[in-house]
Amino acid sequence: MRTITTIFTFLISVQLTMAFTERELEIIRNGNTDTSFRVLLTTDAIDSFTLRMQSSDINTDSITTDENLQLLIQRLAITMNEAGGVGIAAPQVGILKNIFLFIRIDKPDYPIQVAINPIIVNHPTETVCFEGDGCLSIPNISANSIRFPWIEVEYWDEKGNFHKEKLIGYSREEDFTSIIFQHELDHLNGILFTDKICTTSEEDSEVVDPVVNID
Ligand SMILES: [Zn+2]
Repeated sequence: MRTITTIFTFLISVQLTMAFTERELEIIRNGNTDTSFRVLLTTDAIDSFTLRMQSSDINTDSITTDENLQLLIQRLAITMNEAGGVGIAAPQVGILKNIFLFIRIDKPDYPIQVAINPIIVNHPTETVCFEGDGCLSIPNISANSIRFPWIEVEYWDEKGNFHKEKLIGYSREEDFTSIIFQHELDHLNGILFTDKICTTSEEDSEVVDPVVNID
């Protein structure tokens, strides 16, 4: 029975870990480590379709030896920096794999963090309405989005190191590292911040006021 369970578990893990497709390899290899990717936009019908798709896990056994993965990471960093973003997910450049980059605004000098096969393992029940979310794939739109105030996460980095940590911060003016992580993780599941729009209590009262004053 244990053998059957082991085989079953093995098959599931194999099924969920996908190699790059030919199309993805084309995209990754059409430039070098100094070349940015084209960022997919919701204003384009085909791009929009891709941005709504589910990504799959990367084989963590070959993180350091997979030259295509390493090139993808370097080009994602160039693309994010050129666009002036604080995070970028692989689906945003047409690669449907579970990997994104985010800026550690909770650390000195704001280093780039690579997150491979990232997951949220714990979060509070309450949520916050984060002000001024935005996305490189959604031009000219900024809005508030529903987020968790903190999250406990697990992921691998580009050197094959496993990370388990708590990310906090949801203030636009100070640290909002946990918000960036949640935004980028959503991309891997085909979810965009415009799916999670909320209004702050001040905005609610602005809307309610005219109704209250009708009489
Ligand atoms: Zn985004």
